[in-house]
Amino acid sequence: MPESITDLQEIFQKEMAKAGNLEGLEKLRVQYLGKKGRITTLMRSINRLPVEQRPVFGKELNKLKKYVETALEQKKKKYKQQLTATRWEKERLDLTLPGKPFHLGRKHPLNVIMEEIEEIFTSMGFIIAEGPDVELDYYNFEALNMPKDHPARDMQDSFYINPEVLLRTHTSPVQIRIMENQAPQLPVRIIAPGKVYRRDDDLTHSPMFHQVEGLVVDKGISMADLKGTLLLFLREIFGQEREIRLRPSFFPFTEPSAEVDISCIACEGQGCRICGGTGWLEILGSGMVHPRVLEIAGYDPEEVTGYAFGMGVERIAMLKYGIEDIRLFFANDLRMLSQLLAY
Ligand SMILES: [Zn+2]
Repeated sequence: MPESITDLQEIFQKEMAKAGNLEGLEKLRVQYLGKKGRITTLMRSINRLPVEQRPVFGKELNKLKKYVETALEQKKKKYKQQLTATRWEKERLDLTLPGKPFHLGRKHPLNVIMEEIEEIFTSMGFIIAEGPDVELDYYNFEALNMPKDHPARDMQDSFYINPEVLLRTHTSPVQIRIMENQAPQLPVRIIAPGKVYRRDDDLTHSPMFHQVEGLVVDKGISMADLKGTLLLFLREIFGQEREIRLRPSFFPFTEPSAEVDISCIACEGQGCRICGGTGWLEILGSGMVHPRVLEIAGYDPEEVTGYAFGMGVERIAMLKYGIEDIRLFFANDLRMLSQLLAY
């Protein structure tokens, strides 16, 4: 005897009340209308009934089937609407909210100075040259008139990779590489900006810093050309009222050699704390290319002369921005960096 259809409807209604979500509804659908569902099974059992009962039973069963289908469908629709509403609430955009501020990237102050230096020299006809950071001892020292036992090597504590290879301690090896490639053609007129490495670490020294090297080789180049070029350059960087002076100095690869000072940018030569009361600030090293260096690089020192200079980019930036600790450039503190760029 099949279940009573009225009973079955009551059971369904109770179960329906408990189906709290779409999953529950689907389970219920399979349970009643699936291939082995309760209603489907009853449908199949109709032909086991006495013939006269079949029409009534079949009609009732169809009614129940319709009822279950409709009930399931309606509740499913209701649940779906609820889900959409929740999701809408969660993902709702408030177009009246203020936007998030975002920060534009800018050039590092050292890059700004480097580019400024490059621009001044290229406008004077210099060409930008580059060399490797990892350099041979030969180019870093020997070809610059500093053989193995030369005392000047002690002036620069170096990072050696092996006895013949080191991180370059200055940009001067680029001079040799360029002259070697170009000799005997004239003129040579280059600047070589780049990173250099020394075993120093304090307020004014960093183990990695930047230099710009300059080199001019031609017939009839004199100290006056050097002085004129540097005066023009330093006035572009530090202001047209700047004066410069050359002090005798010593570098193994130039002869004669000179330290170049500018009149103090803080006191205009009166003497202050920054210039140590002298009125002058040391800014770069320079000199006439040593005949021995010209010869090593492939030029005839009887026929050509040249001058060279080298400057620390950080030193220039520190003076220009009034910074007393070189490490600020490399600490990557955005507050400091963006303040510098406001200059
Ligand atoms: Zn001063």
